[in-house]
Amino acid sequence: MTAGTAEQDLGGLEPEAGWLLRQRIPWLWLNPGWCPMESAGAALKLKRDDLLDAEQRWSRFCPLLAELFPELRAARGLIESDLVPVPRLATRLTRTGRHIPAGRWMLKADHALPVAGSIKARGGIYTCLHFAEKVAFESGLLGGWGDDYRKLKGREARSVFSGYTLSVGSTGNLGLSIGIMGKTLGFGVTVHMSKEAKSWKKERLRRRGVRVVEHTSDYTAACKVARAAAARQAHHHFIDDENSVELFLGYSVAALRLKRQLDESGIAVDAGHPLFLYLPCGVGGAPGGITFGARHVFGDDAHCFFVEPVSAPCMLLGMLTGRHSDVSVYDIGLKLETEADGLAVSTPSRFVGRMMESLLSGCLTVTDSDMFACLTDLYDAASIEVEPSSAAGCAGPGSILSTPAGRAYRERHALDACMHHATHVIWTTGGSFVPPEQHQAFRAQAARQRDA
Ligand SMILES: *Cc1c(COP(=O)(O)O)cnc(C)c1O
Repeated sequence: MTAGTAEQDLGGLEPEAGWLLRQRIPWLWLNPGWCPMESAGAALKLKRDDLLDAEQRWSRFCPLLAELFPELRAARGLIESDLVPVPRLATRLTRTGRHIPAGRWMLKADHALPVAGSIKARGGIYTCLHFAEKVAFESGLLGGWGDDYRKLKGREARSVFSGYTLSVGSTGNLGLSIGIMGKTLGFGVTVHMSKEAKSWKKERLRRRGVRVVEHTSDYTAACKVARAAAARQAHHHFIDDENSVELFLGYSVAALRLKRQLDESGIAVDAGHPLFLYLPCGVGGAPGGITFGARHVFGDDAHCFFVEPVSAPCMLLGMLTGRHSDVSVYDIGLKLETEADGLAVSTPSRFVGRMMESLLSGCLTVTDSDMFACLTDLYDAASIEVEPSSAAGCAGPGSILSTPAGRAYRERHALDACMHHATHVIWTTGGSFVPPEQHQAFRAQAARQRDA
């Protein structure tokens, strides 16, 4: 499946849906396969226990992380972001004058996650820790789960870890998180960067001693090369973003932490207080893991929506056709023309897409100019600087509150009577590592678009 094979027969794709996608028209698609958790959960291979197991693994590593990264000391090694109320953003985004029921608007500020500066801190770092733990048990560095994990920063551990190489394909941020964590533990790290990856991300990794392989192809193709290269070498551990259960579960713990933060803020989530999550989506691992976690933690009161660029709606296309990783946005003539590098993915994860068939509420697509406008809104309303991918979620509340499809969703779930008690969580996913001049350039681009 390559660019140019535009008009393939995509059985399962209805003509109107195909037209909306090809014309790159922003769209809120509601997932007809959504199921109540009672039936959805039983059919999934991964269970609540897998989520809890991941949270416990994170906890075992906290003492080590607190010593490795000074910025984690105050949080005792927990890599977590703030949940921030953004009432001014709500006012700004609803300035069109249409009546919109209030509800509470919040940001889950993963753009500022410590250590890696993006949502990939959850998945990428967790995956490194999962592998390190396995090697540590096998080599006798650790005697068991109750052992002191701080041993893993000693000379003996580094000498064991240096015998292994982690490799990964990335559009930038996953490479950053795995490069930083892998190198800190002493692993060799090779990152295969797709053509979208920004040069500052590559430079930052090279400075840390990561081997960066630059590809002129897109993310899916870079992953394929990386997967094949790793298979030829002993002691190479390829972290497969398209198929990795570890990445997925590393992300999923966000839901447990969100629950704690909502509880601490006195914000209820129940049938009368629905929770909406708006999750920027690339290959699907991060938003999929969070959705899996959120449906386990909040049940049917969590309404999870993925947000994709109109030029890269790979998860939406995969779900519409039921073909998941067997379909690419090139097949419908799209070309990944988006500045949202973290979301510039042509083919979704099958493993994630299949799970989302019952868990996900829907997908929405946004234009680049919407993302840039939102990026500026976040800056003006909340002094928050994010990268374009990370601003995609801002389109979420508006599409639920003021589009015909949004109304259909509210009716289907009998939510209209309680929308003023709803909590909308816009998940911001990357940005705190972006150099200041790059942030200025993003805002300048947004201003040019506005004036054009
Ligand atoms: C990777 C990424 C996402 C999406 O994660 P996937 O697992 O690829 O779906 C969203 N935002 C940013 C900034 C990212 O780097």
